[in-house]
Amino acid sequence: MIIGLCFISNLAGMGLKMGKHIYGCAINELEEYFLGINEKKYRAIQTYEWLYQKKVFSFDEMTNIKHDLREALKKDFKIKTINLIRVQKGSDVAKYLYELKDKNTIEAVLMKHSYGNSLCISTQVGCNIGCLFCESGRLKKVRNLLPGEMVEQIIMAEEEVHEKISHVVLMGIGEPFDNYENVVKFLKIINHHKSLNIGTRHITLSTAGVVPRINDFANEEGQVNLAISLHAPNNEIRNKIMPINKSYNIEKLLEACKNYIKRTNRRITFEYILLDGINDSDDCAVELSKRLKGINCYVNLIPYNEASNTVFKKSGKAVILRFYDILKKNKINVTIRKEFGGQIDAACGQLRADNR
Ligand code: SF4
Repeated sequence: MIIGLCFISNLAGMGLKMGKHIYGCAINELEEYFLGINEKKYRAIQTYEWLYQKKVFSFDEMTNIKHDLREALKKDFKIKTINLIRVQKGSDVAKYLYELKDKNTIEAVLMKHSYGNSLCISTQVGCNIGCLFCESGRLKKVRNLLPGEMVEQIIMAEEEVHEKISHVVLMGIGEPFDNYENVVKFLKIINHHKSLNIGTRHITLSTAGVVPRINDFANEEGQVNLAISLHAPNNEIRNKIMPINKSYNIEKLLEACKNYIKRTNRRITFEYILLDGINDSDDCAVELSKRLKGINCYVNLIPYNEASNTVFKKSGKAVILRFYDILKKNKINVTIRKEFGGQIDAACGQLRADNR
């Protein structure tokens, strides 16, 4: 096949650079690519099947695609861009350290549940949100991850564990709504029935509360589960542990959540890390109950995992149960999150705790 000027200009028109990461291509982009080189659209589905179902890492293995077309794919796309450089395993958890093409590193955590394998992925290199209790955010944001780099975290984890990842949680390093467009594209790619086919109900996006993006997200198609890192019942406490609250306070945040629920008819999860002496008193539980009364939500209480270089302490078991009981008595749906991977620093907010 002669790849001429027409094809080059077509690539440029699609915003495709030479050597584009193929895991970052939505199906319609691949279809446009094939049409642009006078091929049939169905080649895109064929390519997706090789990548996501047969899980090959080389265009040469795509044997039902003719040779000259495979050569064109090799020239225009790359498949693997990240390397798995370290795996730490616990009984029901594994932490993966990935090296990106530019040598930056990110992490993902696999959690084995009775209902399947859930992977917590990173969305940025570093994070600018600066939550005080968070190890993941100690490194300032270096850059956003591209959609393909998020997809590849899942592909690499499946490859390592030899099992399907059935659930994805965007709760690793980074604030997903600070990388909005790439994240939305990533969600579309992994949800496609010919790619990883991960259902929207099996995907949870967690945000620290970027209010304008919550409003934008309410208008997206194919709603995934939305979780809000709340962690405090009032502005006084939230200002101290989450600087983002100074931009979008609790009132604005809960207003956006209510609008989101109204528009999408989906329930929201509020994440609440219990920090000893900070946000775990009976008064906090009562105040939180009042705040959330009437909102279609549930609260996920998270026992804090003490990392080496932080001033926060984990709430005692009795305190956690008391907090839970007060919410229950006030008719708030509440659960206490199972603790995963504390021993290998793979717990919530602990990614990158000991990478260097
Ligand atoms: S909790 Fe999330 S948003 Fe906050 S600093 Fe950590 S990675 Fe960033």
